[in-house]
Amino acid sequence: MSPLPPLRPDLVALAGYHSPQVDAAVRLNTNESPFPPPETWRQDLENGLEHVEFNRYPDRRATALREALARSYGVGADEVFCANGSDEVLQCLLLAFGGPGRRALVFEPTYKLHSHIARVTGTEVVVAERGPDFTIDPDAAVAALDAVQPAVVFLCSPNNPTGRSEPAALVRRVVEAAPGLVVLDEAYGQFAPRSALGLREDPALDTSGLVVVRTFSKTWAMAASRLGYLLADPGVVAGCEVVALPYHLSAPTQLAGLTALRYQAEMESRVAVVAEERGRLAAALAALPVETWPSDANFILFRPQRREAKEVWQALLDRGVLIRDCSGWDRLEGCLRVTVGTPRENDLFLGALEESL
Ligand code: PMP
Repeated sequence: MSPLPPLRPDLVALAGYHSPQVDAAVRLNTNESPFPPPETWRQDLENGLEHVEFNRYPDRRATALREALARSYGVGADEVFCANGSDEVLQCLLLAFGGPGRRALVFEPTYKLHSHIARVTGTEVVVAERGPDFTIDPDAAVAALDAVQPAVVFLCSPNNPTGRSEPAALVRRVVEAAPGLVVLDEAYGQFAPRSALGLREDPALDTSGLVVVRTFSKTWAMAASRLGYLLADPGVVAGCEVVALPYHLSAPTQLAGLTALRYQAEMESRVAVVAEERGRLAAALAALPVETWPSDANFILFRPQRREAKEVWQALLDRGVLIRDCSGWDRLEGCLRVTVGTPRENDLFLGALEESL
């Protein structure tokens, strides 16, 4: 037998991206919704599943789901593409518009999967820096775009893990200056006061390269369903369709999303509770010996000032509270990230944190 072929040399250095799945009573580490979807959604979904023809492949184009999403955003169905989580949407974008000989520009620190998926697809990654307060300087961004000429530039708004949404003026300048796609990752967009979607309606701006990516995993409380989507020019959608595997989106996934869109009001009320709790958490953190950064998302980044972050993380876990340890990540030395939970979970976190600091 011939030996196992070696891994692609450019992949050897890439450790997989994994959030440690440690057992804990209070899990505030992966920015999920703390609330389950409405019980009536589950019942509707179960009823719908009874009509799924499981011996048949699903609708390859996810027509009904795309049409429903298009209606909810007031766009055409040819401007919507759906995949298994927004991560798969990002992968399709990079397969179609990145790849060997092309570059992706990221502003670090940001969501690690942008550079990870870019590398996996053979796209060269160029890193630009955020300032000490984690904001992007618009002039520096335009200079980087001019110098790098990326096929794809990523913005993340609100930015994971730092929390703030990108100012509209910055997004506009990047859209004006970018030579290729501008991917606005709005996985946490519904928690934030602004979205890049409005720019698509501005007739004075050419937004043919603007791609807004969203997910059902966070605000829709459906992380288990693995469903994400993008809104963009039909040419972008057509590109993604070239690289997506046939029938990649299962019938239950399509149905889960379609059913969820009937629960807009419930989703919005969940977002409102999380936003209120975020304010309460931020106020409580401000009274503790930690540095914090403002957040428009469902998580808050903070840095303990008197004790090592890793020790604080472990002390919290010892008290049954799991949060994300970012302290070993580049540019985030000493930082931890907590997801906003239910009021009770947040109380447990705050109590445990006070003891742990
Ligand atoms: N983008 C950002 C910024 C995220 O934080 C996440 C989730 N960690 C995703 C995309 C991926 O979400 P999903 O694949 O569940 O839609």
